[in-house]
Formats: sequence, C-alpha cells, structure tokens
Amino acid sequence: MSNEFELNVLGTRGSMPVNGKNFLTYGGATSCYRILAGNEEIYLDAGNGILDARPEPNTRITILLTHMHLDHIIGMPFFVALGQANRRVDIYAKERAGLNVTEALDRLISPPFWPLKVGQYPADVAFHELPAENFSIGAVAVDVMEGSHPLGSTIYKLTYRGKSLVYATDFEHTPESCAALAGFAKDCDLLLYDAQYTAAEYDKYRGFGHSTPQIGFEVGTKANAGKILFVHHDPRRTDEELSAMEREFAGRTDKIMFAKTGDKILL
Ligand SMILES: [Zn+2]
Ligand SMILES: [Zn+2]
Repeated sequence: MSNEFELNVLGTRGSMPVNGKNFLTYGGATSCYRILAGNEEIYLDAGNGILDARPEPNTRITILLTHMHLDHIIGMPFFVALGQANRRVDIYAKERAGLNVTEALDRLISPPFWPLKVGQYPADVAFHELPAENFSIGAVAVDVMEGSHPLGSTIYKLTYRGKSLVYATDFEHTPESCAALAGFAKDCDLLLYDAQYTAAEYDKYRGFGHSTPQIGFEVGTKANAGKILFVHHDPRRTDEELSAMEREFAGRTDKIMFAKTGDKILL
C-alpha cells in the first residue's frame, strides 16, 4: 500500500455530461475526483466520471458528495464498487432541501428511474449525514465549509501526512464567500476551484452558483495555495475554448491547471 497522497481526475465537466470530438482533451464526464491516501480511497462527488474508477482491491471506499445536483451523483448507479460484495462504501452528504443523504439519493436512484436503490447494491453501503464538526476518515482529516450555491454545496478540505487539498466546486464568488474560502484553504497544496464561466459571460449567469478562473486565481493567491486546478467546465466549452482560457494565464503563473480527465496529481 502506497503512502502517497494522490488525486486522479475522473470527471471535469459541470452541469451535464457531453461527448464528441470537441471534448476529447478536457473530457466530457461530470464531476468525480479520486483521492488515494494510504489505505483510504476517497471519491469527491459521483458524476459519471466515476464510471472509469477502478478501485484498489484492499482500500476502504468513501464518497464525499458536495450536494445532490444531477452532475454530482449521476454516476452513482454505475460505480463498480457498489456491485462488489465484501466491499464497504461509506457515503457522506449534508441534508439539503429537507432530504438527508439516503432520502435524496433514493428519490432519484429508485424505480421507476432505476431498478435499485443505492442501499440495495451488493456492497455494504452506509450513509452518513455530514458531521457539523470536522471529522476523519482513517488518517485523513476532513474539514468542511458551506459554499455559496443554489441549495448549498459543501467545500471539503482533506489533509494527509501534512499535505492538503481543497475541493471548492459549485462555488460562486462574493466578497464574503471568497474571504471565507481563502481562509479555509489557507496554505493548501492544491485548490480545486469552480471556473465554469469566463469573466465576460459571468454577468449573464450571476446567481447560478459558479465562478471564473480570474477570481479563482485571486482566491488561490490570497490563500497561498500551492497549485490551483480549475474544474466544473461549462458543458458547452470546447477543447479549443478551454485551451484559450488556459493560455490567458501563460507567462503569468505556473500555479494554474485546467482539469483534464486522466490527470494524476501527487501531493
Ligand atoms: Zn455541478
Ligand atoms: Zn450544483
């Protein structure tokens, strides 16, 4: 078992999966990031990127859901670990719109929309209301903060062996939310940040619950983040357009990356 702290990018897309020749480089599957930290295998969200997950044989699996919007849970029914008997899968999410994690998942993943509920899969599935306090998953410390998003979204900080990453997807910037995030993410090694919109189009989508790379760079710089990974790409944003957004930062910083499916980052 490795003691490395590693992030695998499985799904980068926001809002809705896309496919086709315009989405080959950055990927079309929705939000899913796999963290390996010793014996812990932690999934941040379960968008359809989770279809590519190949769980290690002897890890403990945890899924941390930011919120219940479709793009963050739509891959759950196809997560291979749920089909494995003798596999324990712990799923955490905060109650939203009056539904706890089990009730919310059961509302979508149950007949007639799908033949099985998540709890009926062969794996030993345990659902957990997100603790209000910080908690730990084995040797991984988990801190949580509420983000600014319609119906809310949880921001997670995972710390393992002195390194930390912060997952701030489905986050809209306001002076208050940015100050709170910069404090929460202070000195993290990696900040995953919602960069769905360009600065030019943001005004049209104010209140939709997403942000821009420019603001992400400001927040990440204020937080003194080691690297910033932009995530939750707009479903209509082509590879060419994402490359152009990436080039805007060329020469200014080497801290910025736009998430591509298949990326592997060692912390
Ligand atoms: Zn989303
Ligand atoms: Zn959302």
